Amino acid sequence: MTLPIRDNLNDIQKRIKNACMRSNRRFKEVRLLLATKTVSAEDILVALRAGETLIAENTVQELKQKHGPLKTIPHETHFIGHLQSNKIKEVIKYVSCIQSLDRLSTAQKLQNRLEYEDKTMDVFLQINTSYEESKFGIPPENALEFAKQVHEFDRILIKGLMTIGLLSVQAGKVRKCFRLLKDIQQNMLDQGLPVKELSMGMSSDLEMAVEEGATIVRVGTAIFGRRPYPDSYYWNENT
Ligand SMILES: *Cc1c(COP(=O)(O)O)cnc(C)c1O
Repeated sequence: MTLPIRDNLNDIQKRIKNACMRSNRRFKEVRLLLATKTVSAEDILVALRAGETLIAENTVQELKQKHGPLKTIPHETHFIGHLQSNKIKEVIKYVSCIQSLDRLSTAQKLQNRLEYEDKTMDVFLQINTSYEESKFGIPPENALEFAKQVHEFDRILIKGLMTIGLLSVQAGKVRKCFRLLKDIQQNMLDQGLPVKELSMGMSSDLEMAVEEGATIVRVGTAIFGRRPYPDSYYWNENT
């Protein structure tokens, strides 16, 4: 298993590099996040040993399971699954950033918990740029108001925006999602909101995301292979 993962990582780095060159961006501006849902700690370790530093999980269960085995190599862990209120307490034990904040009630509960623990947490606001019902995220037209409200919570540090592009073979439609996120970001920056980062792009569409301004691309399948179920299964789990 070791070799394919290393080869795949090289391929992904090349794809990011090429997309950067095409769009006049610096390679260093784009960070690769390994989306490691369903991936064994062993396989994740292969990637960390190869020099990767950022992983993300979708469930508390997997965060908990892999935390021990992965401790030996320094790395950063983010949360990219749907954030349920009753899981906040657990999630914040294991991650330095929650990329999937998309509800004011959840933000309020997160704030309360962080206050109680005297901690802060980095977050990305998840925006539903594809307007697909099956996906989480705040509707684009409510994004600015949401960001302003979350910005009021002193324990929650907004770092940027996250989106899952439309899963479509029509490139134009996918690109539209990424452009929309960029527009929303610009609007927020104009209003003084600290949304410097854009987390967008996955295995099948990362080039487009980089061309449209991604600072983090989240890649799973193209590095670790196919998962047992379609993505919607993991995004909607337990809800
Ligand atoms: C699984 C997942 C990814 C990675 O998707 P791939 O198509 O496997 O690269 C990215 N973002 C989120 C939120 C995910 O759940």
